[in-house]
Amino acid sequence: MDKAKKILKDIFGYDSFRPLQLEIIQNVLNKKDSLVVMPTGGGKSVCYQIPALIFEGITIVVSPLISLMKDQVEQLRQLGVKTALLNSSLSPEHYRNNFENVKNLKAKLLYIAPESLLKDEIVNLLKSIRVDCITVDEAHCISEWGHDFRKEYRQLGKFRTIFPSAACIGLTATATPRVQDDIVKNLNMAEHKKFIAGFNRENLFLQVIPKQDPFQQTVEFLKEHQNQSGIIYCFSRKQVDSLHEDLAYLGYSTKPYHAGLPDDERNRNQDLFIKDEVQIIIATIAFGMGINKSNVRFVLHYDLPKNIESYYQEIGRSGRDGLRSDCLLLFSYADIAKINYFIDRKEDEVERLSAKAHLSAMVKYAESEICRRHPLINYFGETYKNFDCQMCDNCIAAEKEMTDITIPAQKFLSAVKRTGEVFGVNYLIDVLMGNDTDRILSNGHQNLTVFGIGKEYTKKQWHMFANQLVSKELLNRDLEFGSIKLTERSSGVLFKNQKVSGFIKEPETSSKKLKQVEQSYDMELFELLRVKRKELAEAQSIPPYVIFSDKALAQMATDYPRDEAGLLRISGIGINKLEHYGNVFLSIIKRYCKKKNITGNLNKRQQVIGSRRKSRNNSQVLKHIIVAESFNNGASIKELAEEFEVKTQTIVTHIARYANEGHKIRIEGLMEQISLPAEQHKKVFEAFKEEGISTMKTIYAKFNNEISYEDLHILKIMYLNNNQDYKI
Ligand code: ADP
Ligand code: ZN
Repeated sequence: MDKAKKILKDIFGYDSFRPLQLEIIQNVLNKKDSLVVMPTGGGKSVCYQIPALIFEGITIVVSPLISLMKDQVEQLRQLGVKTALLNSSLSPEHYRNNFENVKNLKAKLLYIAPESLLKDEIVNLLKSIRVDCITVDEAHCISEWGHDFRKEYRQLGKFRTIFPSAACIGLTATATPRVQDDIVKNLNMAEHKKFIAGFNRENLFLQVIPKQDPFQQTVEFLKEHQNQSGIIYCFSRKQVDSLHEDLAYLGYSTKPYHAGLPDDERNRNQDLFIKDEVQIIIATIAFGMGINKSNVRFVLHYDLPKNIESYYQEIGRSGRDGLRSDCLLLFSYADIAKINYFIDRKEDEVERLSAKAHLSAMVKYAESEICRRHPLINYFGETYKNFDCQMCDNCIAAEKEMTDITIPAQKFLSAVKRTGEVFGVNYLIDVLMGNDTDRILSNGHQNLTVFGIGKEYTKKQWHMFANQLVSKELLNRDLEFGSIKLTERSSGVLFKNQKVSGFIKEPETSSKKLKQVEQSYDMELFELLRVKRKELAEAQSIPPYVIFSDKALAQMATDYPRDEAGLLRISGIGINKLEHYGNVFLSIIKRYCKKKNITGNLNKRQQVIGSRRKSRNNSQVLKHIIVAESFNNGASIKELAEEFEVKTQTIVTHIARYANEGHKIRIEGLMEQISLPAEQHKKVFEAFKEEGISTMKTIYAKFNNEISYEDLHILKIMYLNNNQDYKI
């Protein structure tokens, strides 16, 4: 295992294994079979590549797509690993050459297409040498129950029996339990271990905003992602073409991709994107299979995806390098109707029902008010426990903004009732805002008492209210027709004055929050390095990420390594890459540091110049520590609120977070802030004991929204102070 670790560092340039990698490598080296289910970007490749480098014989890798194989072979070549590729895309000369290399034991890995496996020529070749491992990439392709069945994959079972002493490893990112069983059965894995990693992709920032002016919203989003590579998914080919035209007109570097384009144009566009020669690809769902590009920084869904599987796969194409990537979904009810329209045209009833169920899960995700990772990950049968991922819009939309929305809720519900529970959101909003549209006039709804009673809020805000009411089950949306209906719970609010709490502020319709995301690295240096990387890649006709990942560049632009040892500490730089590219990059960094008078690394510089060039997460981290420590040092909550120009409640939230991390907080100055009578504190403590303290929303609801968040947070601090061993 020391050997595996050494290879990881020397060849791949990584310091430590990711979860499961070492166990898998061990299992393979013991010649046991393995089934690996790990999300995209999880690091499946090294699980067979490291054993391949340790085994005496060859490792065979079967992959469904030529582009995938080429990509892997190129990545390995950059690492200095000897690899051969045999498939129909090679020239006869090239093929011969690779063939000979395998025969003469000059390759440690052989990438091969499934249809070639049982050819006599190949079987004889492999029989003449030693085969230690058979790797099946995208192993779900073997199952008819998977979403991408390939007939050729069925030959693998037979192939496997020809080399009984080789270990077999199947890899996939998505496999339901049924598909897993199928893989095991078809690959004849008798004694095997399953390695299943979670579905959570923690570096993806998940955000959903109401779709209002999608083009404008897209442009705003793109402004936050200048020079970054990304994908925009649209529902239709027509939409792809028109969005491409409009964005290109504004000067964006975009290309379209959909099944309606001629093959060569489509392939060219994909290639330009992969090589970073085009920044944005605008595509239908046809795009993405076999894309290994590691530096996709954003995925924007211009339209609602049809189901969570597709959505998960599509957003999963970003952030393979582990760096933060932004996934934005523009959500509108009109899209639901559009998808329904197509579902209704399906002839098979079972298919229709299943498509509706899928759509409904997707809509639930988009409407969710809790951490988005819950509906997403739970969908795949895994239980996600954290309620505060800090990497989705809902988690960072602080609870503090929750207020009493009973009045607008009552108005909306009344409008639904008075108009007969048959209209959609837009119509209801028009009624509330007093817009005398033709439709309203023809229905005579301008005479209703609810007509025009909602002018104090904007259209956006009413949309936001409607969403909240649906997710609180105070309203029901008919997925088929889009009409809004009352539920059993509505009457409590309409007639019994039951309180409703929620958000009132302007909804986030542009991805504004992203503006606060300051990058944690030196962007100017990153740019210089990126340009050099591109130049080197172009010269070799390979994608830039194959040379260095964005992550490696970002790390260089943080640590400012100025010698070889420094470069070797960067993730993803091993001996071979150091040899080939070390000097070029070092000289850029050195020149830059000299010009800017930089001596330490970015973190040290930050301390010196006091700048907070940290990622959003980090700067929040920084902030709550600063706030809480100032409080502990005697500053009052009110003073801190003034200093930081925020509400006192925000200060309390910061302090609570600090307490949550196990720090003691001074009690003086806290209790004065609380408005809840002392005799009621105990019942809140009891609620903490029962429910835990990770989700204030639950506690808030438990007391019928009657105790303010500020009070709850202060009590939480007190509670934590007395229970220092209680950690989340
Ligand atoms: P998958 O095939 O599961 O989608 P990859 O094998 O392509 O993922 O790995 C994703 C990225 O993570 C690659 O850039 C890879 O080099 C990197 N990686 C893999 N293992 C490690 C590790 N132990 N430490 C750091 N980075 C790693
Ligand atoms: Zn979250």
